[in-house]
Amino acid sequence: MKILLASNNPKKAHELRTILANSGIEILTLADVPHYAEPIEDGRTFADNALIKARAGAQHTGLVTIADDSGFTVEELNGCPGVLSARWSGQHGDDQANNLLLLKQMAHVPEERRQAAFVSVCALVVPNGEEHVVTGQWDGWMLTEPRGDNGFGYDPLFLPNEEFPNGRSSAQLSPAEKNALSHRGKALAQLVPIVTQLSQLSEANSD
Ligand code: IMP
Repeated sequence: MKILLASNNPKKAHELRTILANSGIEILTLADVPHYAEPIEDGRTFADNALIKARAGAQHTGLVTIADDSGFTVEELNGCPGVLSARWSGQHGDDQANNLLLLKQMAHVPEERRQAAFVSVCALVVPNGEEHVVTGQWDGWMLTEPRGDNGFGYDPLFLPNEEFPNGRSSAQLSPAEKNALSHRGKALAQLVPIVTQLSQLSEANSD
């Protein structure tokens, strides 16, 4: 069975392909299907945005479609940046400006109140209208200054619980170490039984 991952991010596709290795399921990305206008991600929650992207993919391609929306949530800021993670400073995708602003906003917050997490919500939409939404969360703490050069986004500011109190930020972990712990891996893993069942059904129907 072919499944569309409604994303242009090759790292996400690689992660999903690794998780589904040997399942007989082929993962396509937006580069592999006829172009369609991607929808505006104007939802209020991660789930809203993931569903907006997955529904558009299923509608335009007729394929079972997976989409994810993710972000960094800081307890002291009532869960912000949250769905605004990619554009927290006002410029979409400017990681350095986003991190700088967040550090300033948290400058006077003591260590014991710096709980933070990465969250990934994955939506799977079947063209017949069936929908599934799963969530993965990676808990930890927000650092007071950036550390490390790996990864992207808020990785230099995040100390995972697994590395607490004096260990490495997620930007100091290797890609393999990060994948084994990360929010996205946890969410995608929950899709495996759903995808496997859909694939078995589609095989049975084609017999
Ligand atoms: P998207 O869901 O891939 O569009 O990610 C939204 C934003 O959340 C990114 O631009 C990053 O700022 C942040 N983010 C999501 N996942 C991660 C991660 O694993 N590390 C660092 N930042 C992340």
